Amino acid sequence: MSRSQLPGRCKDCPIPEQPIVKGSGTADGPMILGEAPGAQEVVRGVPFVGQAGKVLRATLEACGISPDDVYITNSVICRPAGNATPTINHIECCSERLDKEVTLVQPTKILAVGSVALTSVLRASKSQPITKWRGRGFWTDWGKHPATSDSQQGKRIYTIATYHPAAILRDPELFRDFANDILKWSKNDHPQVEPILDELYCSDLKGALKAIKLIQEVSMSGIGCPKIRTRSRTACPSSFLLVCWSLRSSGKASVT
Ligand code: SF4
Repeated sequence: MSRSQLPGRCKDCPIPEQPIVKGSGTADGPMILGEAPGAQEVVRGVPFVGQAGKVLRATLEACGISPDDVYITNSVICRPAGNATPTINHIECCSERLDKEVTLVQPTKILAVGSVALTSVLRASKSQPITKWRGRGFWTDWGKHPATSDSQQGKRIYTIATYHPAAILRDPELFRDFANDILKWSKNDHPQVEPILDELYCSDLKGALKAIKLIQEVSMSGIGCPKIRTRSRTACPSSFLLVCWSLRSSGKASVT
């Protein structure tokens, strides 16, 4: 696979006219997924070459992974203006491109560094806190992006999230957890399915619709199914009861 085969700039993106930095490295091995390119990455045309990249590469080596044997890319590959953190809109727009990239690169496992990468691999509709998710192993689904044909063969990939190395530069006390997470990832520890993205109680239509959205997010993330408890039917609309029934009978999260 050559870099020229990787998908590039897209139409209708909310990051127009910004420099693009494609992923780089070895296919068919571990993949590191970051946030978005910074100024130094734009100059050199390669992701993770600044100070944060040095921290990442040194930690990989210390955990027994050669940086030459990994593939490194970002959730959003165009640099947002003013080096801003990509928004949920940017992440969503770039998710189809990322899905194509992962399908081409065929990584054996993924390390998502930072909240943007975590939100991206989960395909969540709101930003996910890295402190809540870091260090857990879970499966992510690729090759079946909603925007592409559902006839495609999908692939589940073992994934762990941890802090972004830039966070380690800001707060060195995070390094211990960061290094432990990468060590765990390097050893392919078995995933622990901990599917709770959020907890909510619904007693009206608005709450029920929010719950349905949460079920969709958990279902898309491929990490399990949500726990649902119902006390009374009177406050819930019939559509919500259908969802509960589907969960009980199949044991899988699905929305009908
Ligand atoms: S940020 Fe992503 S979606 Fe937007 S133009 Fe760049 S590659 Fe395309």
